[in-house]
Amino acid sequence: MQQPRRPGFPARIAQLSGNTPAAVPAPAPRKPGAALPLLATPVGVGRDSAAVRARMVQRLAAAGISSVPVLQAMGAVERHRFVDSGLVNQAYEDTSLPIGLGQTISKPSIVARMAELLLGAEIAKSAGGLGRILEIGTGCGYQAAVLSRLAREVYSMERLRGLHERARVNLRPMQLMNVHLMLGDGMLGYPKGAPYAGIIAAAGGDVLPASWCEQLAVGGRLVAPTVVSGGKQVLLVVDKTPQGLKKSILESVHFVPLKSGIA
Ligand code: SAH
Repeated sequence: MQQPRRPGFPARIAQLSGNTPAAVPAPAPRKPGAALPLLATPVGVGRDSAAVRARMVQRLAAAGISSVPVLQAMGAVERHRFVDSGLVNQAYEDTSLPIGLGQTISKPSIVARMAELLLGAEIAKSAGGLGRILEIGTGCGYQAAVLSRLAREVYSMERLRGLHERARVNLRPMQLMNVHLMLGDGMLGYPKGAPYAGIIAAAGGDVLPASWCEQLAVGGRLVAPTVVSGGKQVLLVVDKTPQGLKKSILESVHFVPLKSGIA
């Protein structure tokens, strides 16, 4: 079994040199009838992006996200910094975008939805916030940045070296001292950080890895896309109660597959 590597954070420069940036495909063709881009010109840093983000937050609230901390986190994290320059125009649309190596950054509404569900953990309600959480599938690091504003410590694991390194580069300027990026197979969880108040997966498997439930604290909550009978992928919420695991199946979702091993 390959042990997950847990490098320090912020990233060491030496480790980044020689890093091959992940190949980022061209923007996906727009679906017929899909909303037009919010901006005709690339989003700049500063005021422009803040205004567009504020509109995104308004749409999230209108769509039913009611947690103030989640809305604040979504308004604070600059999503355009996590996507390829050719996709910056689409950064604040409610759409998933390619981040290289065949993977995608989740659309803002699903990031907000899952974060809100995570905050609903019994342990978060009784402690007034989330303690340590584990994210499976760092991708470009966007969701980890959002979660860093909602939890005391974020352990985030990615199985693809190219994306793990890309997330490191993306997150470095933000100096988020409570985010710990790890290269490893998230299907095994990360026992060293357990127990977790929350576990959130950004990739969907056919079965829920047993390690995740084992590494969840009592009162903790797991939020993960999972395939159910009929082949449909749904959002699964598992609460670990003193009496055992309580599972709830929510809406259908479309996440990239959960895979084992590192590559
Ligand atoms: N949260 C990410 C979304 C990334 S997409 C973001 O904000 O960008 C899901 C990611 O899960 C992909 O990068 C994929 O490589 C990763 N993944 C799939 N199976 C995994 C596993 N077993 N362990 C860790 N990461 C995994």
